[in-house]
Parts: sequence; structure tokens; C-alpha cells
Amino acid sequence: MKIISVEERTIPLGSDTANAAISFQNMTASAVVVEIETGRGRFKGLGFSSYGRYSHGGLLRERFIPRLINITSGISGETSIQLLANVWDILMTNEKEGGHGERSGAVGVLETALWDAIAKSEDLPLWALLERDVGHSGDNGLPAGKTAIYASGGHYRSGSSDATEVAEETKQSLGAGYGWFKLKVGGATQAIDIARLEAAVQAAESSSLIAVDANCAYGGETGATQLNEIDQIGLRWIEEPVDPLDYLALAGCSQSLKTPIATGENIFSQADSRNLLHYGGLRPGIDKLQMDFVLAYGLTEYLRMIADAETLGWSRRDFVPHAGHQVALHAAAGIGLGGHETAAVSGGPFSRVSDDTVVQDGIASLSDTPGTGIENKPELFKLFQDLL
Ligand SMILES: [Mg+2]
Repeated sequence: MKIISVEERTIPLGSDTANAAISFQNMTASAVVVEIETGRGRFKGLGFSSYGRYSHGGLLRERFIPRLINITSGISGETSIQLLANVWDILMTNEKEGGHGERSGAVGVLETALWDAIAKSEDLPLWALLERDVGHSGDNGLPAGKTAIYASGGHYRSGSSDATEVAEETKQSLGAGYGWFKLKVGGATQAIDIARLEAAVQAAESSSLIAVDANCAYGGETGATQLNEIDQIGLRWIEEPVDPLDYLALAGCSQSLKTPIATGENIFSQADSRNLLHYGGLRPGIDKLQMDFVLAYGLTEYLRMIADAETLGWSRRDFVPHAGHQVALHAAAGIGLGGHETAAVSGGPFSRVSDDTVVQDGIASLSDTPGTGIENKPELFKLFQDLL
């Protein structure tokens, strides 16, 4: 495989939403297009970075794109996994261990664009390529090409913490075929949050169809009291109750909460993932791991995290990646993860799934379109127009 070109554009994603930790007013992301040449011709791959961590254009242009472009001899590998592992080694040339910072997102978005291109070169949807080259676990009860899917939303909007709005979003999401709904907590008073939560549970007619995302709001003693109150509701999960790198506090949550905990979207490397699993007190088979591999060195590193976790008693069905990337949808359907997240509100790059994906009864059924399907997601695809 030869790398013909790599281009990045920084895309403004500002919106008037917020969670307990940040406002999305000045948010940006990176759109990346890579062109490769293989024995079958030239193919373009598209990658889009994650929500909540800003774009990676500077790092890509200064370090990671030149490293790939400078390989004139071509890159080989007997399978897609080996090929991408070799790409990964090239990207990480002269990078020290640890201190993952922003570079893991730069590598991640570039790497996912390459997966799109390679799947197209094999004339396969990425899920089928992953099923072939990695294998499907079979332990989530679904065949390859399908995955559980849920909708997330319930953000705090400027000037509004309205429970009625949250109830409406819950109804719409479940009515559209998503399996469960997740809303934000921790960004308003506890009384407002409980009112929002009760409205969502009532709209869903079951507390197990509602999850919450605290965006790390519940550190300290007050937080523990608030968490304890939320724990009594019987929710599907409580996401990021405390700082993602405070394993001691997280282990405390695991001991005191009966509700499943979901975390991992701010864990950016295999080494960080190992630390989380060893010291975070999380419970295999109960808690959920949400590593966002577009932020965390890409699918190659994600497969290493999964392999580590499996040796510690975790299953792939415990993995539910963060954010709603098309590439994550394909990973979930290809290797048998626990589900896929997508934004409940319509519009925006993380909203819903590609047009050729059928969502029904909590299950997403993917099509046979080669690649990751960004071209079939108009809101997202239009962000690539300048690059194509
Ligand atoms: Mg989250």
C-alpha cells in the first residue's frame, strides 16, 4: 500500500449545548482524507475526530502526516490488522512512551481514515473486513453486521434545564428504535437533575432504559451523596461519576454503587486502559468500557485494549465506544461489542447513523456499502466537501 496524500481540515462544531464539565460553544474537530494506492487501484478514506477534544490539525501537519507521506517504498502486511499495525509503528516513530495528551487523537483520526480506505480497497464494509480479519466474538447474541444501539442526549441548553424537553427527547429516541437513552447529569442542582431524570424514566416507562452521564461531576463528599441518591433509581448505568484518571475514587464508586458504572472515553492508550482495569475497581460483566478509539490511537490500539481486558475476565460485550463514529458502529458490528452510541438530536456529525443503516428494536443492521459509510451520512459528509 502506498500513501498518495493526506489532508486535514479543522471544522467548527460550536453549539449552545453543555454538559457538567464543558460548553460546546467553541468546539472544533478534524476531518481527514487519505488517498492510498493498492494493487486494486486508488481509494480515498475519510476520518472524523471525536466530539469534546478539539481538532488535531497542528499535530497532524507537523508530525504525523509527514511521517506517512515520507514512506515512498510502500507499507505491507498480510492482513489488514498487520498492515495497520505497521502503519501505527511508522506514525509513532520517535514518540516517547506515556504522556499521551493530544497526539493519540491525531493518530486516531488518521488511522481511522486509513481503515475506511483499506476496507474500500477490499470492496468490503469495515464490519465485514473486521469480522474476517479479527473475528466476531459471538458473545453479544447478535450476528456480524448488527449491533445494539442507543441514543444519547439530554444536554443542558442555554437558558433551559427543562424536564419536559428531556422527556420528549427520551420518547423520540426510543420511538426511533434506539434501545435506551442517556442524558446528562451533574450540571445543574440535584433537584433539577432528579426532576429531569424522573421525567426521562417516566417517558421510557422503565429505569433500565435510562443511563446518565455525569462528566466527572461527583468527586468529593457532596458528590458521593448525590450519587447515592441517583443509585437508588435503578438506571442502566452511571457514566464517568468522577475524574477518569482518579482510579481510587472510581474504585470507591464501584464499591458503593449497585448501578453499573460506565467509563473510559477519556482513556487514551493501552497503558492507561490497563491501569483503569487494574486499579479502577471496575466489575467485568457489570460495568461498561467506553474507550473512544478515534481519540485513542485508533482501532489498532483498541484491539490491544480489548485483548488485555479479555485476559482480565472482560468480554467484548462490556465495550460500548463513546461518541457515535461510523467507524465505531462498524467495529461494534464487526467484532461483537456491547453496543453503539449515537447522538439523539437530529443534525450534526454525530447524529444518528448512515442512511443505509436500519435501526429497529434497539438493533442497528449495517449495509454492505464498502468502507465506514461516512458518504451515506449527509450531515457528516458535507464537512468533507472541501477535501474531496
Ligand atoms: Mg460521556
